Order: sequence, then structure tokens, then C-alpha cells
Amino acid sequence: MSPAGRPATTAPVTAFIGLGSNLEDPEGQLRAALLELAELPDTRLVNRSPLYRSAPVGPPGQPDYINAVAALDTRLQPPELLAGLQAIEQAHGRRREGLRWGPRTLDLDLLLYGDRVLSTPALTLPHPRLTERAFVLRPLADVAPGLVLPDGTTVESHLRRCPQGGLVRLET
Ligand code: ATP
Ligand code: CA
Ligand code: CA
Repeated sequence: MSPAGRPATTAPVTAFIGLGSNLEDPEGQLRAALLELAELPDTRLVNRSPLYRSAPVGPPGQPDYINAVAALDTRLQPPELLAGLQAIEQAHGRRREGLRWGPRTLDLDLLLYGDRVLSTPALTLPHPRLTERAFVLRPLADVAPGLVLPDGTTVESHLRRCPQGGLVRLET
């Protein structure tokens, strides 16, 4: 049995995580976070995108962001996975006071959890702004070419329509 009490035979689900940081060595924050995602219980890191630099959305005057996407195979249920992501954010000194979309040491968004569609106060799946953001769609297309969203649309179709907004691919 897993720590959460489920049979270990539960099939893993592929989940995609959007990583972002624009404070305190953002590249270092993302590299460390990728290692920590790989350490989540009942979870395997199966792929990660290159790092990208993007211009900030939200309040002006903040530094550029570093972004990436990770693919996980996980037996955690979505709320458990979100709790794991938030624990990693906290360990990176994430503060939740202040402006919406303000600068942060680490942001981990649960973009997709298999084909699951969910709308609760704490968790919406797919992530509600997934299809609007080149800094999410581009690295998502890197780790999962041809990926089809639960509504039947493809990541590439959204990417073609999305302003690239100063997105720059860094070294892998
Ligand atoms: P955005 O959601 O536009 O990317 P953000 O990442 O800055 O903005 P946060 O302050 O990190 O937003 O998160 C706000 C809340 O969003 C969290 O408390 C969390 O409960 C909720 N949330 C809902 N759906 C998701 C999801 N798919 N992934 C991560 N958080 C989610
Ligand atoms: Ca976010
Ligand atoms: Ca978030």
C-alpha cells in the first residue's frame, strides 16, 4: 500500500507541472524544484522542457521569469499532488501576500492531470489559464508533442494563436 492507503497497483497518471520563478536565482530555483518534483512520493519525473525566459504578466516593474514544464507519472490524487507542489513552493520561501501575479521565488501550477476535468475552489483542471500563455504552451509542447487537451484541442493549436510575448529559449 502507498502512504495514502491505496493499493500500489493503481495505474499512474501523467501530470504536467508549470514551473516559474523571477526572484532569487530563478534558474537555480527551477533546477532545484525539478529535483524535488522527482522526490514526490509515488511519483516519477519522466520529462522536462528546456528553460525559457519570459516577460512578466501582472504588475509592471518585476524581473523577467524563468519558466519550464515537467511531466510526472504519479499515483498521487490531484489534491495530494497540489499539496506536494505547495509544500515545495513553501520550502522555496514562496510568500502569498501581495499583488496577484506579483514576483515569486517559485510557482508550481498543476496544468493537467491526465484527462481529468475538475472545478473546485482549491483546484481547477486543466489549469484555467493554460491555453492563454505561450510560456506554458511552448514548454508543454516540448515535453509532449501532439498532446491533446481534455476538450479535444491540441496544445499546438493554442500555441499558434498565442502571442509569443518575448519568450526566449535558454540552454537545456
Ligand atoms: P495563475 O493561477 O494565474 O497562474 P498564480 O499561479 O499566481 O496565478 P497562485 O497564487 O499560485 O496563483 O494560486 C492561487 C490558487 O490557485 C491556489 O491557492 C490554488 O488553490 C489555486 N489553484 C486552482 N487550480 C490550480 C491549479 N490547477 N494549479 C495550481 N493552483 C491552482
Ligand atoms: Ca501560475
Ligand atoms: Ca500557482
